[in-house]
Amino acid sequence: MTETLSERIEQVELRMQTAIRRSHRRRDEITLVAVTKKFPAAVICEAYSLGLRVFGENYVQEFEQKHPALSGLPEARFHLIGHLQSNKARQAAELFHTLETVDSEKLARRLNEAGKLLEVMIEVKLSPEGAKAGAAPEELPALIDAIRGCPNLKLTGLMTMPPWNPDPETTRPFFRRLAELARNHQLPQLSMGMSHDLEAAIEEGATHIRVGTALFGPRPKP
Ligand SMILES: *Cc1c(COP(=O)(O)O)cnc(C)c1O
Repeated sequence: MTETLSERIEQVELRMQTAIRRSHRRRDEITLVAVTKKFPAAVICEAYSLGLRVFGENYVQEFEQKHPALSGLPEARFHLIGHLQSNKARQAAELFHTLETVDSEKLARRLNEAGKLLEVMIEVKLSPEGAKAGAAPEELPALIDAIRGCPNLKLTGLMTMPPWNPDPETTRPFFRRLAELARNHQLPQLSMGMSHDLEAAIEEGATHIRVGTALFGPRPKP
């Protein structure tokens, strides 16, 4: 890839606009979460200088190392989008504004005990393949009640990661199912869709799309 980051941001914006027009939605209903896992802090700073404000990271430890280099980005909001173990909950609460992958009552309790006001989403597992983590749809009512009982947690929506498939039409049914679950539970936000299927996700109601490769190119190998 020889394009600059600024050109790739523009390409992603154009793809978003196309899907937004097709689905009669508005740009301000959708947050672009720039997924920066495996990239150094300098990439986050460059993206910020080009106007991006919301960043997604997968690993608490990796982000903890980058975090000191990000103190000059006052408007940046950081979302944890990778699986979170409850023994890392306190650390994660310090580092992130939004935790998108809450999937158990135990984890919710630990986050609540950190004593900081946090936005959270529930990660939902909609098929046996795909992400290993996530709450089953049947577990949602109890988990939602438990989180709503936590004074430091504000539950805003649902997140999912369908089994990876290059054809966005195969992931569309998962997006539709997540939207239905969110509606049934009066949850306004939906985090779904990545580089290759963001259009389908927007058409199915995504309020947050998590985009890495289309913005930053292939991730560096460790
Ligand atoms: C890495 C990752 C993404 C971004 O994937 P791309 O295909 O690079 O856009 C989105 N969501 C989650 C949960 C991820 O782990």
